[in-house]
Amino acid sequence: MKKVAIIVQTKEGQLSDSSKSLLSYVSSFSPETILLLAIGDVKFSSVPSSKSVDVITLSDGLWTDSSSIEPLTKILEGFTVFGIKSIQVDNLLSLLAASSTQEMISGIQQFTYSGGKYVINKSIFSGKASLSLTTESAAFFSLNRNFDFSNTPDYAEQFIGSISTVNAAIGSHASIIALKPITGAIPLPDAALVVGAGRGLKDPSNWTIVEDLAKALGAATACSKPVSDLNWRPHHEHVGQTGVKISPNLYIACGISGAIQHLAGVNGSRIIVVINNDPEAPFFKHADYGIVGDVNDILPRLTKKLQSH
Ligand SMILES: Cc1cc2nc3c(=O)[nH]c(=O)nc-3n(C[C@H](O)[C@H](O)[C@H](O)COP(=O)(O)OP(=O)(O)OC[C@H]3O[C@@H](n4cnc5c(N)ncnc54)[C@H](O)[C@@H]3O)c2cc1C
Repeated sequence: MKKVAIIVQTKEGQLSDSSKSLLSYVSSFSPETILLLAIGDVKFSSVPSSKSVDVITLSDGLWTDSSSIEPLTKILEGFTVFGIKSIQVDNLLSLLAASSTQEMISGIQQFTYSGGKYVINKSIFSGKASLSLTTESAAFFSLNRNFDFSNTPDYAEQFIGSISTVNAAIGSHASIIALKPITGAIPLPDAALVVGAGRGLKDPSNWTIVEDLAKALGAATACSKPVSDLNWRPHHEHVGQTGVKISPNLYIACGISGAIQHLAGVNGSRIIVVINNDPEAPFFKHADYGIVGDVNDILPRLTKKLQSH
């Protein structure tokens, strides 16, 4: 099979949990050596092993200057490159695809490798439908954040202990320096957990209960369109057909009716929890879990419970 590279995020020098899952998944069908393209510092331990991982640490310039992508494009000739959707990862994959004239496929919900082909299931039409396809030619794959890694054996731990070579020769070609991590609020399209609220909150001053819950979870906050139209919340928080499309692992929708235009932006979420005081609210039909109740009662209780853990 083709050589495989994956884009990974690091935290304090170690692979993030989603990057470990991606490494485990890809290693189950890939050759002995995998190339890691690391966003962030790399401080892996050196233990000899039968499998190995080469590492390139990516520089800031790669995202903004397409000329600096060329050395990396050369290194990645003949590779299939995987990443988990984020603004940075999708930027990088599309730059690489444009620079190499190889195809990029995004919105991937499932894929397997079989008989020399990638068998892919991807979401289309804002997550309202999915498309199955096979490809031999595409080289750049962006996996949805809610990609199901649940049945993946945990190969990553073996790798983490066994990363023996940070390939200096490759690294020097790419003229790489560490990338500054994003600080401050979690960008909505990249968030794994999102708490969204709608007109059911009644007044912008009531948003403290939404923010408190989001803080307790480490989640980003979102809102329905009328809420941002009323200037209760900033426009970049508006999700839906005319706003940001999100695909977190968990979306908690508070006091939102579940209009089709709102669903268009959130139905890529892996698990949807709806809190609404109207048992007939349309959103309940699309929820994995529903709580019929007043947001002013439920949200503080959820926050308190989370804070006590
Ligand atoms: C062309 C077009 C594009 C649109 N694009 C978007 C879009 O991108 N995103 C978007 O969100 N909307 C969009 N809309 C608007 C959409 O149709 C709905 O009007 C909107 O989503 C409703 O917002 P909401 O659920 O916050 O408010 P409402 O419809 O007013 O619903 C409020 C909900 O809160 C519940 N509630 C009230 N009080 C409480 C309480 N105390 N506790 C718990 N629940 C309570 C109510 O039961 C109700 O279900 C668009 C509309 C059009 C026509």
